[in-house]
Amino acid sequence: MLRFYNTLTRNKEELRPIHEGKVGLYSCGPTVYWFAHIGNMRSFLFADILRRTLELNGLEVKMVMNITDVGHLTGDADEGEDKMLVGMRREGKTAFEIAEFYTAAFMRDLERLNIKQANLYPKATAHIPEQIAMVEALEKNGFTYRTSDGIYFDTSRLSTYGALCGQKAAEKLAGARVEMGEKRHATDFALWKFSPTDVQREMEWDSPWGKGFPGWHIECSAMSTKYLDAPFDIHTGGIDHIAVHHENELAQTKGALGVLEANIWMHNEFLTVNDGKMSKSLGNLYTIEELVEKGYDPLAFRFLALGAHYRSKLNFSFEALEGAQNALRKLRDIVRSWEAPAVGCAQFESRFLEAINDDLNTPQALAILWEMVDSEYSTGAKARTLLWMDHVLGLRLDECVGKPIEVPDEVARLVKEREEARRQKDWTLSDELRARVEALGFIIEDANGHSNIRKL
Ligand code: AMP
Ligand code: ZN
Repeated sequence: MLRFYNTLTRNKEELRPIHEGKVGLYSCGPTVYWFAHIGNMRSFLFADILRRTLELNGLEVKMVMNITDVGHLTGDADEGEDKMLVGMRREGKTAFEIAEFYTAAFMRDLERLNIKQANLYPKATAHIPEQIAMVEALEKNGFTYRTSDGIYFDTSRLSTYGALCGQKAAEKLAGARVEMGEKRHATDFALWKFSPTDVQREMEWDSPWGKGFPGWHIECSAMSTKYLDAPFDIHTGGIDHIAVHHENELAQTKGALGVLEANIWMHNEFLTVNDGKMSKSLGNLYTIEELVEKGYDPLAFRFLALGAHYRSKLNFSFEALEGAQNALRKLRDIVRSWEAPAVGCAQFESRFLEAINDDLNTPQALAILWEMVDSEYSTGAKARTLLWMDHVLGLRLDECVGKPIEVPDEVARLVKEREEARRQKDWTLSDELRARVEALGFIIEDANGHSNIRKL
């Protein structure tokens, strides 16, 4: 039985797929105006673990992840600039070039973290007619009004508004300090924004209401229901999306199509740095590329993320990353000498499945993995079970299990020379040779008078 925590009902619920044996999964994707940071990547890792867990249980998953390439303003309350225009100004490129460049960077990060490809990555700019059609449906159903700068959703017209974030709309309204403009209620939000009349906007489209561009939330309602049909099974994103983006997405789909968009809404907690928010201005915002430049294995970041439950905060530090990298290396070293996979260890497999099926308890799943590694089972049995577990963990352990390191001749020669230098107590030469070995991608560990060689 698969159970997940549903933000909408505030309960752990059993997954009951709408179509037997199949699951429709929609994950909010990146805004491609800049590199995704490691906090964003935590969100995509969480969605990947979810998808792999569903697949391990024999379910056929259709996964859709949007690419936001227009409409996401710098503030959630419909204020600020379109993030894509910010990117264009910063780099002096067209919107298309910005989107193409950062989408490619995003795909590279997914590959480095061994995140499986979604079935579809629809782009907001390629679905303008669908978004317009949805706003028209909302208009027809009486959920919209017009101001001088756009078409807005009237949240007071939907009795269920506020269901996801658990606050009554009225309370939010009383407590919120948002720029009201001509909005009727603080929680109302833009569906379509008009282009400024004095300057030509670089990204704008014709619509029944005049030239303009879509609000940020409408793309997810339009694209998720186009590719998955509503209701679908699971919708994911980070917790920052609950109160505005997902609440509004849910409202739009309900208002336009009269259905609950998705049955289960799952949200990952934040990755923090020094227990605080990551931000460019604090200089603590890292990308996967930066971790790689500092010599870390991207899969060490995946391993670090697996060590925390997705609904707990995870504080990032380089010490923690170092620890994760060492643990992963240790695991790889152990399994290199294992025999070919044989019949697996059933009791560890069932315990692993129980942990992961219980709202993706990855820390417990990892603890079970280590217990299995240390157990008395034959290495062939352990190899089989480990590779099975890795369908969910995604640590590319198949590249190591039963595959001793092949040490190139040059490395072997340098190691021999170093052993000789140590016998002569020539520590300077010994250190120099160690550095040359490391430059070739290997580490020497001195153990009881001989040298162990590991891959960096
Ligand atoms: P964005 O590109 O801003 O739409 O963000 C992409 C995804 O990353 C969304 O699901 C966000 O909720 C999520 N996210 C943003 N910052 C963090 C963070 N520090 N930790 C975890 N998830 C985050
Ligand atoms: Zn979204």
